Amino acid sequence: MVNTTKKIKIGNKVIGGNSPILVQSMCNTLTKDARQTINQIHELEDAGCEIIRVSVPDKKSLNALKEIKDNISIPLVADIHFNHKLAVDSARYADKLRINPGNIGSKENVLAVIKAAKDSNIPIRIGVNLASIEKDLLAYKNKAEAMVESALRRIKIFEKADFYDVVLSLKASDIKTTIDAYKLVSEKTDYPLHIGITEAGTSFSGTIKSSIGLGHLLLNNIGDTIRVSLSAHPAEEVRVGFEILKSLGLRKHGVTITSCPTCARAHIDIIVLSKKLEELTSSIKKPAHIALMGCEVNGPGESVKADIGISGGKPKSVLYKNGKILKKVDEKDIIDSVLKEIS
Ligand code: SF4
Repeated sequence: MVNTTKKIKIGNKVIGGNSPILVQSMCNTLTKDARQTINQIHELEDAGCEIIRVSVPDKKSLNALKEIKDNISIPLVADIHFNHKLAVDSARYADKLRINPGNIGSKENVLAVIKAAKDSNIPIRIGVNLASIEKDLLAYKNKAEAMVESALRRIKIFEKADFYDVVLSLKASDIKTTIDAYKLVSEKTDYPLHIGITEAGTSFSGTIKSSIGLGHLLLNNIGDTIRVSLSAHPAEEVRVGFEILKSLGLRKHGVTITSCPTCARAHIDIIVLSKKLEELTSSIKKPAHIALMGCEVNGPGESVKADIGISGGKPKSVLYKNGKILKKVDEKDIIDSVLKEIS
């Protein structure tokens, strides 16, 4: 299916249209501590993060932006609430601004931010959040419609100011409202959409909620960049983001492991082996597909579809490479053999 959203440039990356869906995250360091923030961004770059956002809650954080920007290689997004002056000043250093029109103040404030972004030739994400929607829209019974109405009102201000370099997000902490809002807004505008389930929770529950919400939207061809919000290290958000995109066949990134749940037929300890393999291949960025299967029931079938496959057997398991049997290996040698073939 063709994605018809507008293309928007964010630093050295592009989102929208049929561009790859980019995975982004947000630092949880203090932005004013430039060194710590740069270190975390480097960690996230290693994990594959493609756009990074930092909060700019005060002047000290603003002052750190230049140093941060100069020391990283992915686009930097400045996230500003309440204080439009910080947004205006951030435009000099950031590759994109993210503001919540619900809390940035008067129309004049918004226009000042738009002017600053225009002068710096950077886009703005209009982040509508149900929790900070305009008062008159709170009366809407349908919360998704209220969020979309809020977004459309804001877009009008931007367009009237002749500013079209816009990315949109509409977030609510419940999945259904978020999905409905994105579906509705995607019918009404062609601005690229940043999608995510906000305040999704811990690694475990947040991963489930995000997978359901983002999965549904992405399968409906909605979403140009994703952020998985987790109460966890942001590298975990990046990992989950890629897993969601990989599982839908939308991106190729790093190692994907297909492994069976095991049962009484299993000849090898799939649970231990798959966990070990996942850990040992987590830093590989080159796309590769490994199948790790317990027995001959589904082992050969999955193994021939993967780049490297193991079909568990006794006394030895069968190692496949590119759809062909390569050799037989003892259980104790499976990990080393797979790693050798993948490198
Ligand atoms: Fe059980 Fe074999 Fe299926 Fe794994 S592949 S779940 S061991 S039948």
